[in-house]
Amino acid sequence: MSIVRAALDVPLPTLFDYTVADGIAVAIGQRVIVPFGRRQMVGVVVETAAASEMTPERVKPVRQVLHDSLPLSAELLDLLRFCSDYYRYPIGQTVLSALPGRLRSDKPVIGRPALSYRLTASVMALDLESFPKRKVVQRRILARLAEGPCNLAQLRSLSATAGAQLKMLMEEEWVESFPEVLIPSTGSGRTANSIQKHSFDNAHTLTGEQQQAVDAVAQASGYACFLLHGVTGSGKTEVYVHLMHQVLQQSGQVLLLVPEINLTPQLENYFRSRFPDVNFISLHSGLGENERLHNWQQAQSGAAQIVLGTRLAVFAEMPGLALIVVDEEHDGSFKQQDGLRYSARDVAIFRASQRGVPIVLGSATPSLESYHNAQSRRYRMLRLTGRALAEARLPTVRCININQTVMHHGISENLLREIGQRIERREQSLLFINRRGYAPVLMCTGCGWLSGCKHCAGKMVLHLNDRRLRCHHCGYQVRVPHACPDCGNADLHPVGSGTQRVESVLQERFPEARILRVDRDSTRSKRAWQSMREQIHANEVDILVGTQMLAKGHDFPALTLVGVLNPDGALYSSDFRAAEKLFAQLAQVAGRAGRADKPGEVLIQTAFPDHPLFRALQAHDFDGWAASQLAERQMAGFPPFVFQAMLRAEGKNEAEAYAFLNQARAAAVELRHAVEVFGVVPAALSRRASHTRAQLLVQGAKRKDMQQFLRAWQPLLDALPAQKLRWSLDVDPLEF
Ligand code: ADP
Ligand code: ZN
Ligand code: ZN
Repeated sequence: MSIVRAALDVPLPTLFDYTVADGIAVAIGQRVIVPFGRRQMVGVVVETAAASEMTPERVKPVRQVLHDSLPLSAELLDLLRFCSDYYRYPIGQTVLSALPGRLRSDKPVIGRPALSYRLTASVMALDLESFPKRKVVQRRILARLAEGPCNLAQLRSLSATAGAQLKMLMEEEWVESFPEVLIPSTGSGRTANSIQKHSFDNAHTLTGEQQQAVDAVAQASGYACFLLHGVTGSGKTEVYVHLMHQVLQQSGQVLLLVPEINLTPQLENYFRSRFPDVNFISLHSGLGENERLHNWQQAQSGAAQIVLGTRLAVFAEMPGLALIVVDEEHDGSFKQQDGLRYSARDVAIFRASQRGVPIVLGSATPSLESYHNAQSRRYRMLRLTGRALAEARLPTVRCININQTVMHHGISENLLREIGQRIERREQSLLFINRRGYAPVLMCTGCGWLSGCKHCAGKMVLHLNDRRLRCHHCGYQVRVPHACPDCGNADLHPVGSGTQRVESVLQERFPEARILRVDRDSTRSKRAWQSMREQIHANEVDILVGTQMLAKGHDFPALTLVGVLNPDGALYSSDFRAAEKLFAQLAQVAGRAGRADKPGEVLIQTAFPDHPLFRALQAHDFDGWAASQLAERQMAGFPPFVFQAMLRAEGKNEAEAYAFLNQARAAAVELRHAVEVFGVVPAALSRRASHTRAQLLVQGAKRKDMQQFLRAWQPLLDALPAQKLRWSLDVDPLEF
């Protein structure tokens, strides 16, 4: 009997020991079904051992070894172990959360995707003649497999009992299964180091800067992290395409991470058109379970040459991985906000270094973390300074002082006039609203009452179409009241501007105009968004009203005007990253204007037209802006000059939440590590859905110090009483 240690999806920081009977081989990375309490669960074998430290009676046997998918590689398990340790998340939950849902369920994945069977490596060396002659069907199967892999249907044609006989052969390790793969049409007989032919639509001659960037990455031997910093439209995508081409020629796999699911179909089409016969798959949460599994297995078998995905794709198994690209690396959606709170960008960097391959982080507005790393030469900076298309110039940026102009419910007269001109010229305008959080709330003009949520510290947002107030934090909703609940005044007015409100102002002013509202609500379905994009491209839209969704990576050739309605909130936000995020957002959204031959213009409505952020935007001076921000961060002792971890707690009982955090704080201080432990404070949203929320920040000057501290602190936290609380540790938090 031997022992396997399995990762299970349970919130405990350990692996679990099980016995396997002699003669049954279990490989590391294989999935097993094991008893756990009264249930049975799927586990992944992470280690094997000669003996268990538990008393033998307590170690139960593995119920079943699943042969329906390839085992996870030691490399992927190492990556997951690193994540579990770095993000302080139980190893079992870390490993299981990296798998597609179908592989997490205890039902074997049968049928889809189909499995192929082949001789195991040990058998290939063996002489078939030595196999017992009386096992006729098994001999037939082995003889057939000696000619090459087959699927079950092909083997059944040898004998009606092939299925059962095959199972016996697998148990005795003569035969193994692997997911059937689609061999790419031109890629059959791929071997390492041979030059692979694939069609490549080499649409453009690279500019000098693009060529330099491509060469720098191509010449890297082993791990190197590059920051590709280029304004929107400078041709970063073209650099990725050329790098991919080189990797594909060497039979390598490429992992391309992008921030938004909404962008993947579009990007997928684009890359497919450049590499028409390359096996290309995507991985994101919008896929159905079967498709996700199928794609994952394509990556795992090496059949998928390019894997395009959102953050979860960073855990895709890729045996031939030779290049990682993280597009829009500054984007906050690379950070997972619950469960394993990982940053896919940071994990990707670790993965590249673990594997010894180059990684390219691309952005027009890099995160200050990455920018700082490039300046201090931990990463290599690659720059694209101009737009790739000679005619396409960067847009001009102007501020409109909202205190010196007539405003119409949040839209200035100047902006409305500019929109009018665009409509006459049959060009498109985009009005950008800085996220849902700034949506309109209802205010009483008599007493100043605001439509607060009963269950949260937040305000309820006015939804005009069904005349309701909705809390975007907890979902609570009520009908719009006829009078102020506090003073009875009937004069209630919306303040702030949401997409719906802006839309109605525009409709009044331009009754003929075709207005399209694009936000999370209106693009919930993939198809809706797809058809909206088609309308925009066909120039069937005059004015677009949207939130940050519209800012990212879309290419609308007729768009020449961008109006930014309410950016000021970010200038006095409590989040020290708010200005960084605003700059990135505005630079992105400004990049939408004037992509084709028509010059673009950006108008920003603000009460602070002289603010350095707007000045830097006008001058297209990211470097100057980043330098000033970094200087401020260094003075104030914020990231990237320190490393942070946030302990959050929430519960119905306020005293309990605070008691937990105060005890956690005392324990942290007592550890006397080289970290700074701050006070317990309310969260930015101090109440949500009738739960009190509070937090405790710890920071350290060195990543290593932080890690050592967290390793010592976590067991103390686990031991604190917290029955009615939910708490979590967030390493390198982005939200405050
Ligand atoms: P980014 O990803 O930096 O925003 P893109 O790669 O999308 O920029 O390029 C912007 C536009 O310039 C695209 O229409 C692209 O086809 C075009 N382009 C990129 N590189 C070149 C080049 N070397 N020559 C001509 N056009 C190019
Ligand atoms: Zn009132
Ligand atoms: Zn609420």
